[in-house]
Amino acid sequence: MSGWGLYVKVAVPRPVDSLFDYEYDEKELGPIKPGDLVTLSFGKSKLNACVVEVSEARPALDEKIKIKKVSGRLSENWSLTEDILKLCQFGAEYYQYALGEAFFVATPPKPEKELGVRARKSKPVKVPFIKDLTQDQAQVVEQMRKTIEQKNDSVFLLQGVTGSGKTEVYIEIARTVLAKNQGVLILVPEIALTAHLRERFENALGEPIALWHSAISDGLRQDQFKKVKSGEVRVVVGARSGIFAPFKELGLIVVDEEHDQTYKQEERFRYHARDLALFRAKYLKIPVILGSATPSLETLQRSREGKNEHLFLKRRFSAHASPELEFVSLIDEPLIIHDEIRTPIAEVTIKRMQESIDRGEQVMVFLNRRGFSQFIMCKDCGWIKKCTNCSISMTHYHKKNELSCHVCGLKIKISETCEECHSHELTGMGSGTEALEEELGLLLRDSKIIRLDRDQITSQKRLEETLDDFRQLKANVMIGTQMLVKGHDFPKVTCVVVMMADMLLKWPDFRASERALQTLIQVSGRSGRADLPGRVMVQGYDLDHPVLKVLRGEVSSDVFIEEELALRKLLFYPPFSRFVRYRFEDADQYQLKKKVEKLALLLSDERLMGPSEALLFRAHNRYRYDLYYKAPSIEALFRMSRKIKKWSNDETLDLLVDVDPYSS
Ligand code: ADP
Ligand code: ZN
Ligand code: ZN
Repeated sequence: MSGWGLYVKVAVPRPVDSLFDYEYDEKELGPIKPGDLVTLSFGKSKLNACVVEVSEARPALDEKIKIKKVSGRLSENWSLTEDILKLCQFGAEYYQYALGEAFFVATPPKPEKELGVRARKSKPVKVPFIKDLTQDQAQVVEQMRKTIEQKNDSVFLLQGVTGSGKTEVYIEIARTVLAKNQGVLILVPEIALTAHLRERFENALGEPIALWHSAISDGLRQDQFKKVKSGEVRVVVGARSGIFAPFKELGLIVVDEEHDQTYKQEERFRYHARDLALFRAKYLKIPVILGSATPSLETLQRSREGKNEHLFLKRRFSAHASPELEFVSLIDEPLIIHDEIRTPIAEVTIKRMQESIDRGEQVMVFLNRRGFSQFIMCKDCGWIKKCTNCSISMTHYHKKNELSCHVCGLKIKISETCEECHSHELTGMGSGTEALEEELGLLLRDSKIIRLDRDQITSQKRLEETLDDFRQLKANVMIGTQMLVKGHDFPKVTCVVVMMADMLLKWPDFRASERALQTLIQVSGRSGRADLPGRVMVQGYDLDHPVLKVLRGEVSSDVFIEEELALRKLLFYPPFSRFVRYRFEDADQYQLKKKVEKLALLLSDERLMGPSEALLFRAHNRYRYDLYYKAPSIEALFRMSRKIKKWSNDETLDLLVDVDPYSS
């Protein structure tokens, strides 16, 4: 054998857990190390693989087994850094995802060729613009620096009310890190926020910043991968996937709005970017700042256990204190009565919105439901049009005159008659953002309304344009779903309306209350951010709900958190356990149910719950049963997952594992 023959273990982008052995000719292909990408033939296909181990010794396989050769090596530019390798290995194991597939989440697209990219119009390098910190901000910064000096891998929870200027704190600490020529990663929950924040950071730090999210072009992603890896770009502002940015030397991770559930990827590689950030920072021994006005119970609990240093910004930056809250009972208050208005809207709500418009200010309206009507119902027999593939009602779209399924995307023309009793008395129930847009157009004088939801915002460009239009006052009312909630900073917004608080409060999930409170506080935080006083109108039926009591200040949020944590502890929910969902899918409902029941019996573990029908029981014509496991430790989680995986393999059932699931 020649002295150049090496052996490598590679991970391939296929749903398998094992690594594969290949021979590597160093003389022909050049030096090789873990993290490098190679091309090889695998079964019948040719694919890219990631090298995980390199060795001179032939693997302990039967002599007769012929070990295939690696056919090529991809540009060094695309190799994964050591900490990214470790991050993927940990992530794949924890979130039960195939290692090879995890690696390829971290590599740039189409690594077999350089795609090139049109250069971004380079702005003249600005002199960093340094704001004077407020006394509160300066104190927090000083405290952080002191702690970091003693222990570089410190974790901070920066709890600051919305508008308190957490970003200024991030910027200040980033300056310290850049001065050591280390990189800074800032994660934000929503793509919509990245562009705006990039500008803020570019102005403040005086250097180019890369945006990192899934909606940018392949060419640009390659380009940024290279620049971040070489250290040419030292600061990245990214959405969830930014956690995989391959810094030359990373020195700080900021997770803004750490409580936000968009950090959890809900498909394929179901990782939580905040939790991966904690892992990566620990591995690199660098500090993390978790920022939020409404920290998650997970993070609060970590603070109690002494794992985070908990710091506060208790005042807003602007002269005006918090916005004024007004609760509007949809039972007691006079509602708008009008033929064409179906959404419950109180007269006083319209009055307040009008006042803001008349003063030349802006209004934001939050309604967490898309479409025109949530469903179409027969007034005579109560029949509801459901999707033929899924167990949910179809959403009505008025302008397109169609019904659409939000799960499988099926679209059909709306029918004239009831499919059960043939009555013509069909009516739309539960109005969504499309209906509200028309209704507010009728009720508000001089309103120019835009909508921010997934039906309207179909691309990143569209999103940026819409937000820009609103910022430039081309519209004075913005109606939106969850998209509206996130950290937008529009100085002219003085009235925020929550159309129906009940929709947030009644969600069937153990995190429902926590999340409702977070959403309501975040939405409220959009009002009166600059030098204009703000107002928030919260409409609802059940105004006595504990969450609304916290919002009203009748119950302190400390007490609320105390009670929530006590309940979680009692029921052994996170943060006191690791929660896993095992979802089994099959077209045959009865076979499936029988099998999963048998499995539950077989495993007989008191911390295993189910089987239960998934909240969305049938989707795409397949049925779903769930088992939930509250694992006392990571090891227990892995043990249970191994058992269940093996079993579902033997039974040839489709299994979907979701560790720390956030959606139902
Ligand atoms: P948060 O992220 O805590 O919600 P921001 O960082 O967005 O708050 O700050 C809210 C507003 O106050 C922004 O418009 C920001 O520019 C301004 N601001 C905060 N701190 C300062 C400061 N020290 N000097 C000048 N403006 C500030
Ligand atoms: Zn009918
Ligand atoms: Zn469907």
